[in-house]
Amino acid sequence: MKCPFCNVDMVHGYLNCGAVIWADRKHKISLLPDRTEQYALNLRSPLLSPNAIEGDCCPQCKRIIMDVSQYPNRLSPADSPRNQI
Ligand SMILES: [Zn+2]
Repeated sequence: MKCPFCNVDMVHGYLNCGAVIWADRKHKISLLPDRTEQYALNLRSPLLSPNAIEGDCCPQCKRIIMDVSQYPNRLSPADSPRNQI
């Protein structure tokens, strides 16, 4: 995969992590989303091995691109009504 920012070949790999959430706000204590925030990649810490989210990292600009569509999320395009849980 070519980096869409600088067109360099990206390195395929995994984000190896415990609990993680990508959200539209900064979480200072808990990783639990509130009732209104938008989030993606909302994963709890597994008991044994880490979560492994597949993606590509650019060795030039260090950006990471991941397809997180298979993971729990509450996201909707800006011009459509927000999805309900
Ligand atoms: Zn790049």
